[in-house]
Amino acid sequence: MDGHTPGETVDMNSVAVVCRRAWNAVDPRDRTEMKSPAQTVIVHHTALRFLISGDGVVYEGRGWGIVGAHAKEHNFHSVGIAFMGNFNDELPSSESLSALLRLLHIGVLHGHVRPNFVLVGHRDVAKTACPGEHLYSLLPKLREQLQNH
Ligand SMILES: [Zn+2]
Repeated sequence: MDGHTPGETVDMNSVAVVCRRAWNAVDPRDRTEMKSPAQTVIVHHTALRFLISGDGVVYEGRGWGIVGAHAKEHNFHSVGIAFMGNFNDELPSSESLSALLRLLHIGVLHGHVRPNFVLVGHRDVAKTACPGEHLYSLLPKLREQLQNH
């Protein structure tokens, strides 16, 4: 169960990613490579390492393996993934939630994220409302879904 309609086959190994160049992302000021796979995945609702749009398309931010600038003191061992929108007001789409699960599956598969990574919301590690009430309240369910894969 990952947000898709029952019976629909979901290819966990594929997710639509738009690379930085394709969406004309401005180059980050520094590009530090991570020394080991990320142990934490921090969910946001602002523009960071990866952005997930409401239609489930992933926009590459820094990309895998590159230290981001999304959560002070956690950047060196975590990946930041942001959902486009303000989830204090709106609910994240099932497409975007499914894209997150597939992205994480791929991240683990390719060794960018530790298999036993911890999924947290930005507010778990900093004083912020990010990633919004509605998205944050879905994290336990997402953790459960990740365990079943
Ligand atoms: Zn955040």
